[in-house]
Amino acid sequence: MSSTVLSAAPAWTIPDYLEVRDGHLAINGVDALELVSQYESPLFVFSESRIRSNINRLTAAATSVERPIRFFYASKANSNMAVLQTVLASGIDVEVNSGGELFKALRVGFRPDQIIFNGTSKSAGELDDAVTAGIYAINVDSIYEIGLVEEAVRRVAAESGKPPKPARIALRLVPEIGTRSHLGLQTALLTSKFGISSSEVLEAFRRSLQNPDLIHVCGIHIHVGSQTPDVEPFAEAFRSMWEHLVAIHRETGHTLEHINLGGGIPVNYLRDRSQADQLPEHERDMLGADLEPSAVLREALRIARESARLANAEHLLEGVEILLEPGRSIIADAGLVLTTVLNIKRRPETGDVWLLTDAGYNLMLSMNNYKWYYHLISASSADAPADEKYKVAGPLCDSGDVYFDIERGGRLPDYRYLPENVQPGEVLALLNSGAYSLAQMFHYNGRPLPAAVMVRDGGKVDLIRRRDTYDDLLTNDVW
Ligand SMILES: *Cc1c(COP(=O)(O)O)cnc(C)c1O
Repeated sequence: MSSTVLSAAPAWTIPDYLEVRDGHLAINGVDALELVSQYESPLFVFSESRIRSNINRLTAAATSVERPIRFFYASKANSNMAVLQTVLASGIDVEVNSGGELFKALRVGFRPDQIIFNGTSKSAGELDDAVTAGIYAINVDSIYEIGLVEEAVRRVAAESGKPPKPARIALRLVPEIGTRSHLGLQTALLTSKFGISSSEVLEAFRRSLQNPDLIHVCGIHIHVGSQTPDVEPFAEAFRSMWEHLVAIHRETGHTLEHINLGGGIPVNYLRDRSQADQLPEHERDMLGADLEPSAVLREALRIARESARLANAEHLLEGVEILLEPGRSIIADAGLVLTTVLNIKRRPETGDVWLLTDAGYNLMLSMNNYKWYYHLISASSADAPADEKYKVAGPLCDSGDVYFDIERGGRLPDYRYLPENVQPGEVLALLNSGAYSLAQMFHYNGRPLPAAVMVRDGGKVDLIRRRDTYDDLLTNDVW
């Protein structure tokens, strides 16, 4: 009688979503290798049910604090139309960062009063579009920009021949709060390019109250940065906004309708920690953060309630709506990239085995510019022990197109662990890569961009982005 040792499911699996079936990676029951044979490699795969459950986790957090909370999906994380459609159908709102994202949000069917527009450098045309649509809030990034919004309102009114309709604005602040995320992802330091400094807030409010026929100032906003692993920066940001809200009320009599706590709820990129000890401690804490959104909301409200009691301002807190702008936490772990090993080599001098894939940093820009860690598995041999070390690199003609830290900063593992004897033709998967990937990909090296599919409930697969053809490489060239 043979004794079968039942090995536990690999640590990266997520029941009913990411599983091993017949030795292959399966996404909501759909075989990854079948997807690649149908849609070619590389391929983005998204899970509708995972997007929905990520959103449900956020909205459940809102019920746990018994406050009206509105969620505006930060569409810069992934603005594919089918993704936006899934977010819309899940019942939350949307945040945009450009005229293009505004266009996409409106086109997919978000109502104007479901849209917030952020950005440091909005053009006159973008402001005109936001004003014409009549969106929920334009978040102004400087005192100067208040005047730009007023001009846009005047222009749009003049164009339509109707009296101006005040645009709703919120003031974006930069609190002096550091987080334990990458400096490039921290937005709330005074060295950051974003927002109005605390010392100018009152002046900014007075300025925005000058022309009530042109603008209505309805809120205040802070985004502490992306992938923020701790509660404290959120709570501090909330405290700061709340104190400004009270001060503004006292000074001007004006009551703000909302406090917008921005995005930044982290994703656990180290669900499988088998390579975690090869990351610097600080990266490990950040990438492996497991912060419950309800903890963020509870702590923010606890602080606000305390300070409201002290300031006798409970009535103000009762009236205020709380907004969040989650991006990464909705889409990152709902997407992955399937990539095929196309070439293999062994360096006699080092003994290293190199696997050369078809997914470069043109698909995963943050793997290069932030040295972001995406856990790599074999989709072809998903339940084989991953204890063999490989150098892994993408196809681009650039020595920086590697899955390790070429600058020897140690910010990525030098080797990736995969099963023994990986061969060309095998399919690998970069997990948790649904955010800031598809939205940032580019044609470098004349590489057609990949297709993307969405696995629906019940295992139906829809193409949500067709793969580029060579003709797409010529689309905008003029010669
Ligand atoms: C990028 C961004 C977000 C989303 O951040 P995540 O880390 O993806 O949640 C939200 N709000 C603003 C203003 C942003 O710039």
